[in-house]
Amino acid sequence: MEWFAGLIAAFIALKLFAQLLLENLNRKEVQRHMGSVPEAFKGTMDEATYTKSTQYTLAKGAFSRWELIVDTIVLLIVLFSGFLPWAYSIWVVLFGFSAWALAGYLFAVGLLMSLPGLPLSWLEQFRLEERFGFNTTTQKTWWLDRLKGLILALLLGYPLLVLVIKIVEWTGPHWWLWAWAVVIGFQLLMMVLAPVLILPLFNKFTPLPEGSLRDRLLALGERTGFRSKAIQVMDGSKRSKHSNAFFTGFGGFRKIVLFDTLVQQLGETELEAVLAHEIGHYKRKHIPKMLLASAGGLLVTFLMIAWLSKQEWFYRAFGFTPGSIVPALLLFSLMSGLFTFWFSPVVNLISRRFEYQADAYAADAMRESGSLVGALRKLNEKNLSNLTPHPIYSAFYYSHPTLFEREKALAK
Ligand SMILES: [Zn+2]
Repeated sequence: MEWFAGLIAAFIALKLFAQLLLENLNRKEVQRHMGSVPEAFKGTMDEATYTKSTQYTLAKGAFSRWELIVDTIVLLIVLFSGFLPWAYSIWVVLFGFSAWALAGYLFAVGLLMSLPGLPLSWLEQFRLEERFGFNTTTQKTWWLDRLKGLILALLLGYPLLVLVIKIVEWTGPHWWLWAWAVVIGFQLLMMVLAPVLILPLFNKFTPLPEGSLRDRLLALGERTGFRSKAIQVMDGSKRSKHSNAFFTGFGGFRKIVLFDTLVQQLGETELEAVLAHEIGHYKRKHIPKMLLASAGGLLVTFLMIAWLSKQEWFYRAFGFTPGSIVPALLLFSLMSGLFTFWFSPVVNLISRRFEYQADAYAADAMRESGSLVGALRKLNEKNLSNLTPHPIYSAFYYSHPTLFEREKALAK
């Protein structure tokens, strides 16, 4: 085995080991608290709901252990069986070396690798989520979702791949800068188009219905200078009883979406507090900041691919012949997660800071924090969230602070 292939094998093992360790830590932490409702939530959550939430957490943990193992096996087979260079040699004989043909190879490999995950996500939706009473997706909706996803990938992802490969041909050694600019442009375009063209393919969006809730939310929009036309309700109940709200887009294309499940679960002042939190994300410019950070990350990514595509050992380690950019793109995309995983605590730390900022904004806009605390408690209860994740586990995986942490910050 080449030294680089050996190094990658070690990184695969290391990541799997760390992830299983994290799952284990988290499971023990939940089991340790299982006996009775944590002190901070006595009186706000009943024993039966708390027990159910710990069972849900444990079941999800057991499930993700299987997912991790399957993902690792798939990656090992794909990288070390010699399948990729073998399939590449056949592909170019059949379809040639045009950008469309080469992008087709990348697309086909991606599609093939997503297949083993398909039964797992089916089981997650129709067994795990079903067992805890969350699933409302029909078989038809679930399969249609996959089909729509595939068609969108063909219509949007595939041409983008073709364009990147063409840019490498057209622009020479500084291709990475051009490719970066094109992908950033594509991302911005998607942020504008997704709320109008893509999200409606999956869900129905409706304006807030007439009534006291609408008046209250519009008044908050008025007070905080947020254009109220952009507040919409989404039929999340079509797929799940989980509830949520999110903020998307930027500038004139921004939109705050409340799940219909959330509207059912929360009282009016609580919904107002949730909306204030989402407006907080807008006011504190969290989306542009995230975009800027991901643009920086993307530039580093392209620079690394450009450098690796000139290293013979990078190709040889996995059986490819140096020359085309395509194997370098493929190998890099398969392996990048082995390294980016270790940065997830940093990314999540920033994301959690943004959540605290949005919470603080909401408390400010509402001139009280009780409504937001009430909303967060209900959200955690209805979604059977884990109230006691292990701190290292939440550092790696939690984009939002836990209920306890948010309440503590709001109490200040
Ligand atoms: Zn938030």
